[in-house]
Amino acid sequence: MTTLRRARRPDPANVAGARTDVGCVRQHNEDALIVAAPLYAVADGMGGHAAGEVASEIAIQTVAQHAPSIADRSVLIQAIQAANLAIIDAARRGVGKPGMGTTLTVAIIDGDRALIGHVGDSRAYLLRDGLLHQITEDHSLVAELVAIGELTPEEAACHPKRSIITRALGNDEKTDADVYSLALQAADRLLLCSDGLSGMLCDDEMAAILNAESDPQIAADRLTEAALAAGGNDNISVIVLNIYAIRPSRAATAAALAANSGPTVELREGSAADVKRRGQRSRLGVITFVALFVLLIAGAVGGVWLYANNTAFLRLENNQVQVYRGLPGDILPGVRLEWFENTTDLNRDDLLVTIAEELETGIRFDNLDAAYLRVADLQASRDEKRAETAGAADAANQSGSATARAAGLRLPGDASINAWVANWPEDGRAMINRRLPGVAMTAATHRAASSSTGNVAKASR
Ligand code: MN
Repeated sequence: MTTLRRARRPDPANVAGARTDVGCVRQHNEDALIVAAPLYAVADGMGGHAAGEVASEIAIQTVAQHAPSIADRSVLIQAIQAANLAIIDAARRGVGKPGMGTTLTVAIIDGDRALIGHVGDSRAYLLRDGLLHQITEDHSLVAELVAIGELTPEEAACHPKRSIITRALGNDEKTDADVYSLALQAADRLLLCSDGLSGMLCDDEMAAILNAESDPQIAADRLTEAALAAGGNDNISVIVLNIYAIRPSRAATAAALAANSGPTVELREGSAADVKRRGQRSRLGVITFVALFVLLIAGAVGGVWLYANNTAFLRLENNQVQVYRGLPGDILPGVRLEWFENTTDLNRDDLLVTIAEELETGIRFDNLDAAYLRVADLQASRDEKRAETAGAADAANQSGSATARAAGLRLPGDASINAWVANWPEDGRAMINRRLPGVAMTAATHRAASSSTGNVAKASR
């Protein structure tokens, strides 16, 4: 395995490293992951005969489309429900296989708040002060047996049925996600992984690697390599996220503003001496007022600039979609706040007329990541349209090597994905997910299983 290094941004709030690997035993990688700040997620698909890839990809795509950009619990739950229904719906339409499903562990980072949504046996961990804490509870048979005292955690760790999960997306329209809200501190690190990592390494081994390696990409590489060295029995997916700086969560700020509407004013009567003192204070008051006023103006200008600098938009120019930071159009007559970021390969002809019209004036996004996600979406629908026009067979039926789609790029195989991951743009914006290899899987890879309780969704060993 090559060790991949990614350049680090000078002073980012948080930086992620990620890696996915097919492992040593499996023929396909059914895991999918996404790194697109503020969204980070891993999904571990199952279902046999290449359906696992379909399920995990649908989960990642859907959650990327619907996830909140702030720590909004109900929107996150809706996004996970949408992913669940999308998989069930796809199976009904003959995409993938009936009974296909996936785990999903997703984190939204919003300032000092991490919101974690979870279904299945992928995991989210927090590394704080050198100690690794498992945040999510596995929805697995052995976890349930540990909870009722039938197994010890040590027995569960090497139990032959430890990959049987009791909750997955794609099996039941009413599947609930667990949601955890975590208060973050500067220097915290989050680890999201599929059971191909947590099943091969114990918590102490993972903690030792994280503590020894501060660079998130190198840490992700080293964790993956350790799981491979331990046997690599399953697909391995790892996201390591370093929290460097903390700001208040936007969700909390919005809630506080809502709670504080309607300010109260306190009136008090005073003595003559009080009145004199007030006169002396009033000159000081004027100076303070002027100073505050100047600060306020400077703050407002700075605030608008900062706001514009963080927002993004897409606009058609010479019939080509361009990515900008800032705000589209004049903010004051003749004044524009926009910074060119990137050009795309999307032409007017690739777009629906209604979208092209919107793009004439510009479509705004909360941040660049959201803008790039939209570009990836538009590229995906264009590619789909092209494939249809070309009379290409259903992608699921095409044979050949596994391809990955990364923000609209198609890359062959794991090596290229990892090379691409290594060359991420420095602000860490990226998206990886796998696309269906048409090669039938061997029976030994993933088998659907049922148990006496009837709610067992997955057996992978
Ligand atoms: Mn797995």
